[in-house]
Amino acid sequence: MVVGDIATGTDVLIIGAGPGGYVAAIRAGQLDLDVTLVEKDAYGGTCLNHGCIPSKALITATGVAHEAGNAEEMGIHADPAIDMGGMMEWKEGVVDQLTGGVEKLCKANGVNLVEGTAEFDGENRVRVAHGGEGQGSESIEFEHAIVATGSRPIEIPGFEFDGERILSSRDALALKSVPDSLVIVGAGYIGMELAGVFAKLGTDVTVVEMLEEALTGFADDLAKPVVDTMEDLGVEIRLGEAASGWEETGEGIAVTTETDGGEETSYDCEKALVAVGRAPVTDTLDLEAIGLEPDGDGFLATDDRARTKLEHVFAVGDVAGEPMLAHKGMKEGQVAAEVIAGEPSALDYQAVPAAVFTEPEIGTVGLSPEEAEDDGFSPVVGQMPFRASGRALTTGHTEGFVRIVADEESGFVLGGQIVGPEASELIAEIGLAVELGATLEDVAATIHTHPTLSEAVHEAAENALGHAIHTLNR
Ligand SMILES: Cc1cc2nc3c(=O)[nH]c(=O)nc-3n(C[C@H](O)[C@H](O)[C@H](O)COP(=O)(O)OP(=O)(O)OC[C@H]3O[C@@H](n4cnc5c(N)ncnc54)[C@H](O)[C@@H]3O)c2cc1C
Repeated sequence: MVVGDIATGTDVLIIGAGPGGYVAAIRAGQLDLDVTLVEKDAYGGTCLNHGCIPSKALITATGVAHEAGNAEEMGIHADPAIDMGGMMEWKEGVVDQLTGGVEKLCKANGVNLVEGTAEFDGENRVRVAHGGEGQGSESIEFEHAIVATGSRPIEIPGFEFDGERILSSRDALALKSVPDSLVIVGAGYIGMELAGVFAKLGTDVTVVEMLEEALTGFADDLAKPVVDTMEDLGVEIRLGEAASGWEETGEGIAVTTETDGGEETSYDCEKALVAVGRAPVTDTLDLEAIGLEPDGDGFLATDDRARTKLEHVFAVGDVAGEPMLAHKGMKEGQVAAEVIAGEPSALDYQAVPAAVFTEPEIGTVGLSPEEAEDDGFSPVVGQMPFRASGRALTTGHTEGFVRIVADEESGFVLGGQIVGPEASELIAEIGLAVELGATLEDVAATIHTHPTLSEAVHEAAENALGHAIHTLNR
Protein backbone atom coordinates (compact mmCIF):
# COMPACT_ATOMS: atom_id res chain seq x y z
CA MET A 1 0.00 0.00 0.00
CA VAL A 2 1.23 3.49 -0.82
CA VAL A 3 1.42 5.90 2.14
CA GLY A 4 -1.62 8.12 2.04
CA ASP A 5 -3.83 5.51 0.37
CA ILE A 6 -7.30 5.15 1.78
CA ALA A 7 -7.89 1.41 2.31
CA THR A 8 -11.37 -0.06 1.91
CA GLY A 9 -12.70 -3.60 1.64
CA THR A 10 -15.38 -5.37 -0.38
CA ASP A 11 -16.77 -8.88 -0.96
CA VAL A 12 -16.78 -8.51 -4.73
CA LEU A 13 -14.55 -6.14 -6.63
CA ILE A 14 -15.47 -5.75 -10.32
CA ILE A 15 -13.12 -4.05 -12.77
CA GLY A 16 -14.94 -2.52 -15.75
CA ALA A 17 -18.56 -1.40 -16.09
CA GLY A 18 -19.37 -2.75 -19.56
CA PRO A 19 -22.14 -5.35 -20.11
CA GLY A 20 -20.06 -8.03 -18.36
CA GLY A 21 -19.13 -5.91 -15.35
CA TYR A 22 -22.33 -3.95 -14.73
CA VAL A 23 -24.53 -7.05 -15.02
CA ALA A 24 -22.24 -8.87 -12.55
CA ALA A 25 -22.46 -5.87 -10.20
CA ILE A 26 -26.25 -5.58 -10.32
CA ARG A 27 -26.73 -9.34 -9.89
CA ALA A 28 -24.26 -9.46 -7.00
CA GLY A 29 -26.09 -6.53 -5.40
CA GLN A 30 -29.41 -8.36 -5.79
CA LEU A 31 -27.82 -11.32 -3.99
CA ASP A 32 -26.92 -9.07 -1.04
CA LEU A 33 -23.20 -9.17 -1.63
CA ASP A 34 -21.12 -6.12 -0.83
CA VAL A 35 -20.03 -4.98 -4.32
CA THR A 36 -17.59 -2.38 -5.62
CA LEU A 37 -17.50 -1.57 -9.34
CA VAL A 38 -14.50 0.32 -10.68
CA GLU A 39 -14.75 2.09 -14.05
CA LYS A 40 -12.15 4.35 -15.59
CA ASP A 41 -14.17 5.81 -18.41
CA ALA A 42 -17.98 5.56 -18.77
CA TYR A 43 -20.72 3.30 -17.39
CA GLY A 44 -21.89 0.83 -20.00
CA GLY A 45 -18.42 0.22 -21.47
CA THR A 46 -17.76 -0.18 -25.18
CA CYS A 47 -21.23 -1.52 -25.86
CA LEU A 48 -23.27 1.43 -24.66
CA ASN A 49 -20.79 4.20 -25.41
CA HIS A 50 -18.81 3.25 -28.51
CA GLY A 51 -20.22 -0.01 -29.88
CA CYS A 52 -23.57 -1.79 -30.05
CA ILE A 53 -25.83 1.11 -29.10
CA PRO A 54 -24.36 4.07 -31.05
CA SER A 55 -23.85 1.87 -34.11
CA LYS A 56 -27.43 0.59 -34.02
CA ALA A 57 -28.75 4.12 -33.46
CA LEU A 58 -26.96 5.29 -36.62
CA ILE A 59 -28.00 2.17 -38.54
CA THR A 60 -31.63 2.95 -37.69
CA ALA A 61 -31.42 6.67 -38.45
CA THR A 62 -29.66 6.25 -41.80
CA GLY A 63 -32.04 3.37 -42.57
CA VAL A 64 -35.06 5.62 -42.02
CA ALA A 65 -33.64 8.21 -44.41
CA HIS A 66 -32.73 5.59 -46.99
CA GLU A 67 -36.13 3.89 -46.82
CA ALA A 68 -37.99 7.17 -47.13
CA GLY A 69 -35.89 8.18 -50.13
CA ASN A 70 -36.39 4.84 -51.89
CA ALA A 71 -40.08 4.16 -51.46
CA GLU A 72 -41.45 5.25 -54.85
CA GLU A 73 -42.81 1.76 -55.31
CA MET A 74 -45.00 2.38 -52.26
CA GLY A 75 -46.14 5.69 -53.72
CA ILE A 76 -43.91 7.74 -51.45
CA HIS A 77 -41.82 10.45 -53.07
CA ALA A 78 -39.40 11.99 -50.63
CA ASP A 79 -35.92 13.39 -50.74
CA PRO A 80 -34.78 13.28 -47.11
CA ALA A 81 -31.96 15.60 -46.06
CA ILE A 82 -29.72 14.40 -43.26
CA ASP A 83 -28.66 16.85 -40.58
CA MET A 84 -25.58 15.07 -39.24
CA GLY A 85 -25.47 17.25 -36.11
CA GLY A 86 -29.08 16.41 -35.28
CA MET A 87 -28.52 12.72 -35.93
CA MET A 88 -25.47 12.62 -33.67
CA GLU A 89 -27.29 14.56 -30.95
CA TRP A 90 -30.14 12.01 -31.04
CA LYS A 91 -27.65 9.12 -30.90
CA GLU A 92 -25.88 10.71 -27.92
CA GLY A 93 -29.24 11.17 -26.20
CA VAL A 94 -29.94 7.45 -26.55
CA VAL A 95 -26.49 6.63 -25.16
CA ASP A 96 -26.87 9.07 -22.23
CA GLN A 97 -30.25 7.64 -21.31
CA LEU A 98 -28.84 4.11 -21.19
CA THR A 99 -25.57 4.88 -19.41
CA GLY A 100 -27.48 6.99 -16.86
CA GLY A 101 -29.81 4.00 -16.40
CA VAL A 102 -26.88 1.68 -15.70
CA GLU A 103 -25.53 4.05 -13.04
CA LYS A 104 -28.95 4.37 -11.40
CA LEU A 105 -29.56 0.60 -11.42
CA CYS A 106 -26.15 -0.04 -9.87
CA LYS A 107 -26.83 2.47 -7.11
CA ALA A 108 -30.35 1.14 -6.53
CA ASN A 109 -28.86 -2.34 -6.04
CA GLY A 110 -26.37 -1.06 -3.47
CA VAL A 111 -23.31 -1.19 -5.74
CA ASN A 112 -20.47 1.03 -4.58
CA LEU A 113 -19.25 2.91 -7.68
CA VAL A 114 -15.62 3.97 -7.87
CA GLU A 115 -14.23 6.06 -10.72
CA GLY A 116 -10.65 5.25 -11.63
CA THR A 117 -8.23 2.78 -13.16
CA ALA A 118 -7.71 -0.46 -11.26
CA GLU A 119 -4.54 -2.53 -11.19
CA PHE A 120 -3.85 -5.64 -9.09
CA ASP A 121 -1.56 -5.07 -6.15
CA GLY A 122 -1.45 -8.49 -4.52
CA GLU A 123 -3.60 -11.55 -4.23
CA ASN A 124 -6.55 -9.75 -2.62
CA ARG A 125 -5.94 -6.10 -3.39
CA VAL A 126 -6.25 -3.57 -6.21
CA ARG A 127 -4.99 -0.04 -6.43
CA VAL A 128 -7.33 2.39 -8.08
CA ALA A 129 -5.77 5.52 -9.56
CA HIS A 130 -8.29 8.31 -9.77
CA GLY A 131 -7.94 10.25 -13.02
CA GLY A 132 -6.35 13.68 -13.12
CA GLU A 133 -3.58 15.31 -11.20
CA GLY A 134 -3.79 15.42 -7.43
CA GLN A 135 -6.79 13.09 -7.37
CA GLY A 136 -4.79 10.37 -5.66
CA SER A 137 -5.46 6.69 -5.45
CA GLU A 138 -6.96 4.16 -3.11
CA SER A 139 -6.41 0.53 -2.25
CA ILE A 140 -9.33 -1.85 -2.12
CA GLU A 141 -9.12 -5.25 -0.47
CA PHE A 142 -11.41 -7.89 -1.92
CA GLU A 143 -12.62 -11.41 -1.25
CA HIS A 144 -13.51 -12.03 -4.89
CA ALA A 145 -12.61 -10.15 -8.07
CA ILE A 146 -14.31 -10.14 -11.45
CA VAL A 147 -12.18 -8.92 -14.36
CA ALA A 148 -14.44 -7.29 -16.96
CA THR A 149 -12.06 -4.93 -18.72
CA GLY A 150 -13.36 -5.65 -22.23
CA SER A 151 -11.46 -5.11 -25.45
CA ARG A 152 -9.97 -2.42 -27.63
CA PRO A 153 -9.75 -2.11 -31.44
CA ILE A 154 -6.70 -3.74 -33.02
CA GLU A 155 -4.33 -1.38 -34.83
CA ILE A 156 -2.44 -2.55 -37.86
CA PRO A 157 1.16 -1.46 -38.41
CA GLY A 158 1.34 1.89 -40.15
CA PHE A 159 -2.34 2.65 -39.46
CA GLU A 160 -2.18 4.00 -35.90
CA PHE A 161 -5.47 5.69 -35.00
CA ASP A 162 -5.26 9.49 -35.01
CA GLY A 163 -8.98 10.24 -35.02
CA GLU A 164 -8.50 12.49 -38.07
CA ARG A 165 -7.35 10.46 -41.05
CA ILE A 166 -7.15 6.99 -39.56
CA LEU A 167 -10.24 6.18 -37.54
CA SER A 168 -11.19 3.44 -35.12
CA SER A 169 -14.86 2.37 -34.98
CA ARG A 170 -15.18 4.62 -31.91
CA ASP A 171 -13.94 7.63 -33.91
CA ALA A 172 -16.22 6.79 -36.83
CA LEU A 173 -19.28 6.65 -34.57
CA ALA A 174 -18.48 10.14 -33.25
CA LEU A 175 -17.80 11.97 -36.55
CA LYS A 176 -19.32 15.44 -36.66
CA SER A 177 -19.53 15.64 -40.45
CA VAL A 178 -20.06 13.18 -43.27
CA PRO A 179 -16.81 12.25 -45.05
CA ASP A 180 -16.96 12.44 -48.86
CA SER A 181 -15.10 9.17 -49.17
CA LEU A 182 -14.02 6.43 -46.80
CA VAL A 183 -11.88 3.34 -47.11
CA ILE A 184 -12.88 0.72 -44.56
CA VAL A 185 -10.19 -1.82 -43.79
CA GLY A 186 -11.86 -5.09 -42.76
CA ALA A 187 -15.10 -6.70 -43.97
CA GLY A 188 -16.07 -8.20 -40.62
CA TYR A 189 -19.37 -7.34 -38.98
CA ILE A 190 -18.23 -3.95 -37.64
CA GLY A 191 -16.75 -2.90 -41.00
CA MET A 192 -19.83 -4.04 -42.93
CA GLU A 193 -22.34 -2.43 -40.54
CA LEU A 194 -20.49 0.89 -40.74
CA ALA A 195 -20.11 0.58 -44.54
CA GLY A 196 -23.93 0.53 -44.71
CA VAL A 197 -24.24 3.56 -42.41
CA PHE A 198 -21.80 5.71 -44.38
CA ALA A 199 -23.10 4.59 -47.80
CA LYS A 200 -26.59 5.72 -46.69
CA LEU A 201 -25.13 9.03 -45.53
CA GLY A 202 -23.83 9.57 -49.06
CA THR A 203 -20.16 8.72 -48.47
CA ASP A 204 -18.29 7.01 -51.27
CA VAL A 205 -17.28 3.77 -49.46
CA THR A 206 -14.67 1.17 -50.39
CA VAL A 207 -14.15 -1.87 -48.19
CA VAL A 208 -10.82 -3.67 -48.48
CA GLU A 209 -10.49 -7.14 -47.01
CA MET A 210 -7.36 -9.26 -46.90
CA LEU A 211 -9.32 -12.55 -46.96
CA GLU A 212 -11.17 -13.87 -50.00
CA GLU A 213 -14.58 -13.37 -48.41
CA ALA A 214 -16.58 -10.75 -46.58
CA LEU A 215 -18.20 -11.54 -43.21
CA THR A 216 -15.93 -14.48 -42.70
CA GLY A 217 -17.37 -16.89 -40.14
CA PHE A 218 -20.84 -16.63 -41.66
CA ALA A 219 -21.93 -19.14 -44.32
CA ASP A 220 -21.71 -17.96 -47.95
CA ASP A 221 -25.47 -18.01 -48.44
CA LEU A 222 -25.88 -15.70 -45.43
CA ALA A 223 -23.13 -13.29 -46.44
CA LYS A 224 -24.07 -13.04 -50.13
CA PRO A 225 -27.35 -11.09 -49.78
CA VAL A 226 -25.50 -8.59 -47.57
CA VAL A 227 -22.67 -8.17 -50.06
CA ASP A 228 -25.20 -7.79 -52.91
CA THR A 229 -27.18 -5.10 -51.06
CA MET A 230 -23.99 -3.31 -50.11
CA GLU A 231 -22.94 -3.23 -53.77
CA ASP A 232 -26.41 -1.95 -54.70
CA LEU A 233 -25.80 0.86 -52.22
CA GLY A 234 -22.64 1.70 -54.17
CA VAL A 235 -20.11 0.18 -51.76
CA GLU A 236 -17.08 -1.24 -53.53
CA ILE A 237 -15.89 -4.43 -51.83
CA ARG A 238 -12.33 -5.47 -52.67
CA LEU A 239 -11.45 -8.95 -51.45
CA GLY A 240 -7.97 -10.47 -51.20
CA GLU A 241 -6.37 -7.05 -50.66
CA ALA A 242 -4.47 -6.24 -47.48
CA ALA A 243 -4.04 -2.60 -46.50
CA SER A 244 -0.30 -2.01 -46.61
CA GLY A 245 0.17 1.74 -46.09
CA TRP A 246 -1.15 5.23 -46.59
CA GLU A 247 0.08 8.71 -47.39
CA GLU A 248 -1.26 12.23 -47.39
CA THR A 249 -2.29 13.63 -50.74
CA GLY A 250 -3.26 17.22 -51.43
CA GLU A 251 -6.95 16.44 -50.92
CA GLY A 252 -6.94 13.66 -48.34
CA ILE A 253 -5.10 10.37 -48.18
CA ALA A 254 -4.28 7.46 -50.45
CA VAL A 255 -4.56 3.97 -48.94
CA THR A 256 -2.47 1.30 -50.61
CA THR A 257 -3.42 -2.36 -50.64
CA GLU A 258 -1.46 -5.42 -51.70
CA THR A 259 -2.61 -8.82 -52.89
CA ASP A 260 -0.85 -12.09 -52.02
CA GLY A 261 0.75 -11.93 -55.45
CA GLY A 262 2.23 -8.50 -54.69
CA GLU A 263 -0.18 -6.47 -56.84
CA GLU A 264 -0.67 -2.96 -55.42
CA THR A 265 -3.72 -0.72 -55.67
CA SER A 266 -4.19 2.76 -54.28
CA TYR A 267 -7.47 4.29 -53.12
CA ASP A 268 -7.91 8.04 -52.66
CA CYS A 269 -10.21 8.92 -49.81
CA GLU A 270 -10.87 11.52 -47.14
CA LYS A 271 -10.48 9.12 -44.22
CA ALA A 272 -9.80 5.46 -43.51
CA LEU A 273 -11.57 3.38 -40.89
CA VAL A 274 -9.67 0.37 -39.58
CA ALA A 275 -12.01 -2.38 -38.32
CA VAL A 276 -9.89 -5.52 -38.27
CA GLY A 277 -10.98 -6.94 -34.94
CA ARG A 278 -10.64 -6.33 -31.23
CA ALA A 279 -8.12 -7.46 -28.63
CA PRO A 280 -8.82 -8.14 -24.93
CA VAL A 281 -7.63 -5.59 -22.37
CA THR A 282 -5.55 -7.67 -19.98
CA ASP A 283 -2.16 -6.01 -20.39
CA THR A 284 -2.84 -3.01 -18.15
CA LEU A 285 -3.96 -4.85 -15.02
CA ASP A 286 -0.64 -6.06 -13.62
CA LEU A 287 -1.96 -9.61 -13.65
CA GLU A 288 1.44 -10.83 -12.53
CA ALA A 289 0.77 -9.31 -9.13
CA ILE A 290 -2.05 -11.80 -8.69
CA GLY A 291 -0.40 -14.75 -10.43
CA LEU A 292 -2.54 -14.83 -13.56
CA GLU A 293 -1.25 -15.05 -17.11
CA PRO A 294 -3.36 -14.44 -20.21
CA ASP A 295 -3.11 -16.86 -23.14
CA GLY A 296 -1.21 -16.04 -26.33
CA ASP A 297 -4.09 -13.90 -27.63
CA GLY A 298 -4.41 -11.97 -24.36
CA PHE A 299 -7.56 -13.73 -23.10
CA LEU A 300 -8.05 -15.04 -19.57
CA ALA A 301 -9.01 -18.72 -19.55
CA THR A 302 -12.10 -19.50 -17.48
CA ASP A 303 -14.16 -22.58 -16.62
CA ASP A 304 -17.91 -23.06 -16.97
CA ARG A 305 -18.43 -20.92 -13.87
CA ALA A 306 -16.49 -17.96 -15.32
CA ARG A 307 -13.70 -18.69 -12.83
CA THR A 308 -10.04 -18.26 -13.76
CA LYS A 309 -7.46 -20.69 -12.47
CA LEU A 310 -7.63 -18.75 -9.19
CA GLU A 311 -10.54 -19.79 -6.96
CA HIS A 312 -11.41 -16.18 -6.04
CA VAL A 313 -10.91 -14.46 -9.41
CA PHE A 314 -13.41 -14.53 -12.27
CA ALA A 315 -13.26 -13.11 -15.81
CA VAL A 316 -16.27 -12.19 -17.94
CA GLY A 317 -17.04 -10.61 -21.30
CA ASP A 318 -14.51 -9.88 -24.03
CA VAL A 319 -11.51 -10.60 -21.76
CA ALA A 320 -12.79 -14.15 -21.28
CA GLY A 321 -12.66 -15.03 -24.99
CA GLU A 322 -14.75 -15.43 -28.12
CA PRO A 323 -17.41 -14.71 -29.11
CA MET A 324 -16.78 -11.11 -28.13
CA LEU A 325 -20.43 -10.16 -27.89
CA ALA A 326 -22.28 -8.12 -25.29
CA HIS A 327 -24.94 -10.75 -24.49
CA LYS A 328 -22.28 -13.42 -23.93
CA GLY A 329 -20.56 -11.08 -21.45
CA MET A 330 -23.84 -10.30 -19.69
CA LYS A 331 -24.55 -13.99 -19.14
CA GLU A 332 -21.03 -14.59 -17.84
CA GLY A 333 -21.37 -11.60 -15.49
CA GLN A 334 -24.61 -12.98 -14.11
CA VAL A 335 -23.15 -16.46 -13.63
CA ALA A 336 -19.98 -15.13 -11.93
CA ALA A 337 -22.07 -13.15 -9.43
CA GLU A 338 -24.32 -16.13 -8.71
CA VAL A 339 -21.38 -18.50 -8.24
CA ILE A 340 -19.75 -16.06 -5.81
CA ALA A 341 -23.05 -15.93 -3.91
CA GLY A 342 -22.96 -19.74 -3.66
CA GLU A 343 -25.69 -20.44 -6.21
CA PRO A 344 -25.45 -23.54 -8.48
CA SER A 345 -25.08 -21.46 -11.63
CA ALA A 346 -23.08 -22.43 -14.73
CA LEU A 347 -22.48 -21.39 -18.33
CA ASP A 348 -23.79 -23.21 -21.36
CA TYR A 349 -22.69 -21.91 -24.74
CA GLN A 350 -24.81 -24.13 -26.99
CA ALA A 351 -27.22 -21.37 -27.95
CA VAL A 352 -25.27 -18.09 -28.09
CA PRO A 353 -26.86 -16.06 -30.88
CA ALA A 354 -24.94 -13.70 -33.16
CA ALA A 355 -26.39 -10.93 -35.28
CA VAL A 356 -25.11 -8.62 -37.98
CA PHE A 357 -27.17 -5.44 -38.33
CA THR A 358 -26.59 -4.90 -42.02
CA GLU A 359 -29.22 -4.76 -44.73
CA PRO A 360 -30.43 -7.48 -44.76
CA GLU A 361 -29.63 -8.55 -41.22
CA ILE A 362 -28.04 -11.89 -40.31
CA GLY A 363 -28.91 -13.92 -37.23
CA THR A 364 -27.44 -17.26 -36.24
CA VAL A 365 -27.70 -19.55 -33.25
CA GLY A 366 -26.63 -23.08 -32.39
CA LEU A 367 -25.44 -25.44 -35.11
CA SER A 368 -25.33 -25.03 -38.88
CA PRO A 369 -26.14 -28.14 -40.97
CA GLU A 370 -22.40 -28.80 -41.41
CA GLU A 371 -21.64 -28.37 -37.72
CA ALA A 372 -24.55 -30.66 -36.82
CA GLU A 373 -23.12 -33.33 -39.10
CA ASP A 374 -19.62 -32.88 -37.67
CA ASP A 375 -21.12 -33.34 -34.20
CA GLY A 376 -22.55 -36.72 -35.21
CA PHE A 377 -26.19 -35.73 -35.81
CA SER A 378 -28.19 -36.58 -38.93
CA PRO A 379 -29.32 -33.05 -39.65
CA VAL A 380 -32.63 -32.30 -41.28
CA VAL A 381 -33.01 -28.79 -42.63
CA GLY A 382 -36.12 -26.70 -43.28
CA GLN A 383 -36.03 -23.42 -45.14
CA MET A 384 -38.49 -20.63 -45.83
CA PRO A 385 -37.66 -17.81 -48.24
CA PHE A 386 -38.94 -14.37 -47.21
CA ARG A 387 -40.24 -13.83 -50.74
CA ALA A 388 -43.04 -16.27 -49.79
CA SER A 389 -43.86 -14.36 -46.59
CA GLY A 390 -46.89 -12.07 -46.77
CA ARG A 391 -45.51 -9.80 -44.04
CA ALA A 392 -42.12 -9.53 -45.74
CA LEU A 393 -43.86 -8.39 -48.93
CA THR A 394 -45.74 -5.70 -47.00
CA THR A 395 -42.45 -4.34 -45.61
CA GLY A 396 -40.83 -4.21 -49.04
CA HIS A 397 -37.99 -6.50 -47.89
CA THR A 398 -38.19 -9.99 -49.33
CA GLU A 399 -34.54 -10.92 -49.60
CA GLY A 400 -33.20 -13.86 -47.60
CA PHE A 401 -34.56 -16.88 -45.76
CA VAL A 402 -35.00 -18.66 -42.44
CA ARG A 403 -33.23 -22.00 -42.04
CA ILE A 404 -33.87 -24.32 -39.14
CA VAL A 405 -31.61 -27.26 -38.36
CA ALA A 406 -32.80 -30.27 -36.37
CA ASP A 407 -31.76 -33.81 -35.62
CA GLU A 408 -33.72 -36.05 -38.00
CA GLU A 409 -34.02 -38.90 -35.52
CA SER A 410 -35.18 -37.03 -32.42
CA GLY A 411 -36.57 -33.88 -34.05
CA PHE A 412 -34.65 -31.70 -31.57
CA VAL A 413 -33.92 -28.22 -32.93
CA LEU A 414 -30.15 -27.77 -33.04
CA GLY A 415 -29.83 -24.30 -34.52
CA GLY A 416 -30.85 -21.85 -37.16
CA GLN A 417 -29.55 -19.28 -39.62
CA ILE A 418 -31.51 -16.32 -40.87
CA VAL A 419 -30.68 -13.65 -43.40
CA GLY A 420 -33.38 -11.10 -44.04
CA PRO A 421 -35.57 -8.47 -42.39
CA GLU A 422 -35.44 -8.49 -38.57
CA ALA A 423 -33.15 -11.54 -38.51
CA SER A 424 -31.61 -10.21 -35.28
CA GLU A 425 -35.02 -10.46 -33.56
CA LEU A 426 -36.31 -13.61 -35.26
CA ILE A 427 -33.30 -15.70 -34.29
CA ALA A 428 -34.46 -15.51 -30.64
CA GLU A 429 -37.24 -18.01 -31.31
CA ILE A 430 -34.81 -20.61 -32.63
CA GLY A 431 -32.47 -19.87 -29.71
CA LEU A 432 -35.30 -20.53 -27.29
CA ALA A 433 -36.16 -23.77 -29.09
CA VAL A 434 -32.55 -24.97 -28.78
CA GLU A 435 -32.38 -23.96 -25.11
CA LEU A 436 -35.67 -25.65 -24.23
CA GLY A 437 -34.89 -28.83 -26.15
CA ALA A 438 -37.92 -28.17 -28.37
CA THR A 439 -38.57 -30.33 -31.42
CA LEU A 440 -39.58 -29.34 -34.95
CA GLU A 441 -43.09 -30.50 -34.04
CA ASP A 442 -43.14 -28.10 -31.08
CA VAL A 443 -42.25 -25.16 -33.33
CA ALA A 444 -44.72 -26.30 -35.98
CA ALA A 445 -47.47 -26.78 -33.38
CA THR A 446 -47.01 -23.23 -32.08
CA ILE A 447 -49.59 -20.89 -33.58
CA HIS A 448 -47.78 -17.80 -34.88
CA THR A 449 -49.45 -14.44 -35.42
CA HIS A 450 -50.41 -13.68 -39.01
CA PRO A 451 -49.11 -11.74 -40.84
CA THR A 452 -45.68 -11.63 -39.20
CA LEU A 453 -42.13 -12.37 -40.16
CA SER A 454 -41.98 -14.97 -37.38
CA GLU A 455 -44.33 -17.14 -39.43
CA ALA A 456 -41.24 -17.86 -41.55
CA VAL A 457 -39.72 -19.73 -38.58
CA HIS A 458 -42.92 -21.77 -38.28
CA GLU A 459 -42.92 -22.47 -42.03
CA ALA A 460 -39.24 -23.51 -41.96
CA ALA A 461 -40.05 -26.05 -39.22
CA GLU A 462 -42.99 -27.34 -41.26
CA ASN A 463 -40.74 -27.51 -44.31
CA ALA A 464 -38.24 -29.65 -42.37
CA LEU A 465 -41.15 -31.95 -41.47
CA GLY A 466 -42.16 -32.11 -45.12
CA HIS A 467 -45.53 -30.37 -44.86
CA ALA A 468 -45.00 -26.65 -45.36
CA ILE A 469 -48.13 -24.99 -46.73
CA HIS A 470 -46.79 -21.80 -48.30
CA THR A 471 -43.71 -23.22 -50.04
CA LEU A 472 -42.89 -26.36 -51.95
CA ASN A 473 -41.56 -29.07 -49.67
CA ARG A 474 -38.07 -30.50 -49.89
C1 LIG B 1 -18.76 -0.77 -33.26
C2 LIG B 1 -19.12 -1.95 -32.41
C3 LIG B 1 -20.35 -2.53 -32.54
C4 LIG B 1 -20.70 -3.62 -31.74
N1 LIG B 1 -21.94 -4.17 -31.92
C5 LIG B 1 -22.30 -5.22 -31.14
C6 LIG B 1 -23.59 -5.78 -31.26
O1 LIG B 1 -24.41 -5.32 -32.06
N2 LIG B 1 -23.92 -6.82 -30.45
C7 LIG B 1 -23.03 -7.34 -29.55
O2 LIG B 1 -23.38 -8.29 -28.85
N3 LIG B 1 -21.79 -6.84 -29.43
C8 LIG B 1 -21.40 -5.78 -30.19
N4 LIG B 1 -20.16 -5.24 -30.02
C9 LIG B 1 -19.24 -5.87 -29.05
C10 LIG B 1 -19.58 -5.41 -27.62
O3 LIG B 1 -19.44 -4.02 -27.56
C11 LIG B 1 -18.62 -6.08 -26.64
O4 LIG B 1 -18.69 -7.48 -26.80
C12 LIG B 1 -19.01 -5.73 -25.21
O5 LIG B 1 -18.97 -4.35 -25.00
C13 LIG B 1 -18.06 -6.43 -24.24
O6 LIG B 1 -18.45 -6.14 -22.93
P1 LIG B 1 -17.38 -6.17 -21.74
O7 LIG B 1 -18.16 -5.86 -20.50
O8 LIG B 1 -16.58 -7.39 -21.81
O9 LIG B 1 -16.37 -4.98 -22.06
P2 LIG B 1 -16.51 -3.47 -22.46
O10 LIG B 1 -17.86 -3.11 -22.90
O11 LIG B 1 -15.37 -3.18 -23.37
O12 LIG B 1 -16.29 -2.72 -21.07
C14 LIG B 1 -15.08 -2.78 -20.39
C15 LIG B 1 -14.98 -1.57 -19.46
O13 LIG B 1 -13.86 -1.74 -18.62
C16 LIG B 1 -13.25 -0.47 -18.41
N5 LIG B 1 -11.87 -0.72 -17.98
C17 LIG B 1 -10.87 -1.31 -18.71
N6 LIG B 1 -9.76 -1.40 -17.97
C18 LIG B 1 -10.04 -0.86 -16.76
C19 LIG B 1 -9.30 -0.69 -15.56
N7 LIG B 1 -8.02 -1.10 -15.45
N8 LIG B 1 -9.89 -0.09 -14.51
C20 LIG B 1 -11.18 0.33 -14.59
N9 LIG B 1 -11.94 0.18 -15.69
C21 LIG B 1 -11.38 -0.42 -16.76
C22 LIG B 1 -13.39 0.20 -19.76
O14 LIG B 1 -13.30 1.62 -19.63
C23 LIG B 1 -14.77 -0.25 -20.19
O15 LIG B 1 -15.77 0.66 -19.80
C24 LIG B 1 -19.78 -4.13 -30.79
C25 LIG B 1 -18.53 -3.53 -30.63
C26 LIG B 1 -18.20 -2.45 -31.42
C27 LIG B 1 -16.85 -1.82 -31.24
